[in-house]
Amino acid sequence: MDTKQSDVIIIGAGASGLIAANIAVERGKTVILLEKKSQMGLKLRITGKGHCNITNNCDKQSFLSHISNKDFFLPAFERFSNKDLIDFFSKRNVSMVVERGERVYPESKKALDVFLCLIKDLENNDKVTIKKDCKVEKLIIKDNCVVGVKTNQGEIFANNVILATGGNTYQTTGSCGDGYKLAKQANHNIIRPLPILVGLRTKEGYERRLQDFEVKNCEVRIEDKLRNIVAKEFGDIYLDEYGVSGPIILTLSRLIAQELDKEEQLYLIIDYKPKISEEKLYLEIQNTVRERRIESIGSVLRKWFAKDMVNEVADKCRLNARSMAKNITEKDMKNILWYMKQRRQEIIGDMGWNEAIVTKGGVSLEEIDSKTMKSKKVNNLYFCGEVIDLDADTGGFNLQIAFSTGVLSASSID
Ligand SMILES: Cc1cc2nc3c(=O)[nH]c(=O)nc-3n(C[C@H](O)[C@H](O)[C@H](O)COP(=O)(O)OP(=O)(O)OC[C@H]3O[C@@H](n4cnc5c(N)ncnc54)[C@H](O)[C@@H]3O)c2cc1C
Repeated sequence: MDTKQSDVIIIGAGASGLIAANIAVERGKTVILLEKKSQMGLKLRITGKGHCNITNNCDKQSFLSHISNKDFFLPAFERFSNKDLIDFFSKRNVSMVVERGERVYPESKKALDVFLCLIKDLENNDKVTIKKDCKVEKLIIKDNCVVGVKTNQGEIFANNVILATGGNTYQTTGSCGDGYKLAKQANHNIIRPLPILVGLRTKEGYERRLQDFEVKNCEVRIEDKLRNIVAKEFGDIYLDEYGVSGPIILTLSRLIAQELDKEEQLYLIIDYKPKISEEKLYLEIQNTVRERRIESIGSVLRKWFAKDMVNEVADKCRLNARSMAKNITEKDMKNILWYMKQRRQEIIGDMGWNEAIVTKGGVSLEEIDSKTMKSKKVNNLYFCGEVIDLDADTGGFNLQIAFSTGVLSASSID
């Protein structure tokens, strides 16, 4: 194929770039797909712990409420919604199942099947040129119009360019912020990228023995130094040496990303018994200690905590787990209550780019036409996926952003 006559160059063969390539081909366009890694779709293949939580089956309003900028996302979602996505894959023999929290997965529970489905119509297609190990280093812009790209394999020209380079997380998969540099070159502003959907580091952390210990059905609150509640969530968490992670912590990390970035002092409080009031719980502690006075403190603590946590709780409450419960004072009981409901741990940051699931920030939405995904700064340049300043909660919403914006960009090229 004569690459000079191609309709579109797509930079990045991740979720958004791959679907954009499929739609462009469906529209009869000639496509050059450039991927800097030796393999395509590396991040897509590890999504949902290899199972790929591809979208969420909730209704439109609820879906949009999970997205950072629903007005911007709406046209992309209307062009290619969660239902369209399920349809798209079903028609290509990848059927989906809906699980807890309306999370949608391929029936096979294999992210690889999603990836293989997306490349099936691209490989061995004479309208598509795929170049791997091909890193785009620069956009070639002439008279305010993008005409091609400079890569480590030379210059390539086409009528349109779609920038689908992803964010800045899990950098071994290939997404390491290249897109921001390329967009800047086209005079786009970049909203400061921040790692989100990531574990939080606390000053003290937990005993190493407790690595990945799961605490179910707790409430986690984030408070500022004046004890105002900044955010709170109910659900499951994991404890580790450096802090906390798990589903609700990921959600919270997204809500406090900007405060963390500004190094505001924030505190994390785990309420281990959110359904019981402090007064009731204190009475329960008093009665239990009284009734079980000849047992060890460790054994009494087992009433509220799993065995593995007993030493941690005793330690933080300055109690000897082996001592008899009859030695527990009123102050000790207040300490136990404090641990269960009020212990404030200072948050000292997040677990960083290599553990974050998604990037918040990216190419400013003000400079992209949301109806087409076209750059308002440079002609024939389009954006899709995580490189733009759109992000969402966990639950399949981020992949839907990638797929919806990918479809819209490829539907919009001339
Ligand atoms: C561990 C993990 C699990 C996740 N699980 C889920 C999940 O279950 N559900 C969900 O909704 N979301 C999930 N996500 C988020 C989701 O994977 C991303 O939001 C999505 O992949 C973004 O798609 P993208 O196409 O924008 O970017 P990417 O998938 O990151 O693809 C970008 C591609 O561009 C290539 N590239 C970058 N720079 C260049 C360059 N200069 N030249 C050429 N190529 C380049 C990269 O190598 C990469 O292949 C998960 C993320 C992670 C890290």
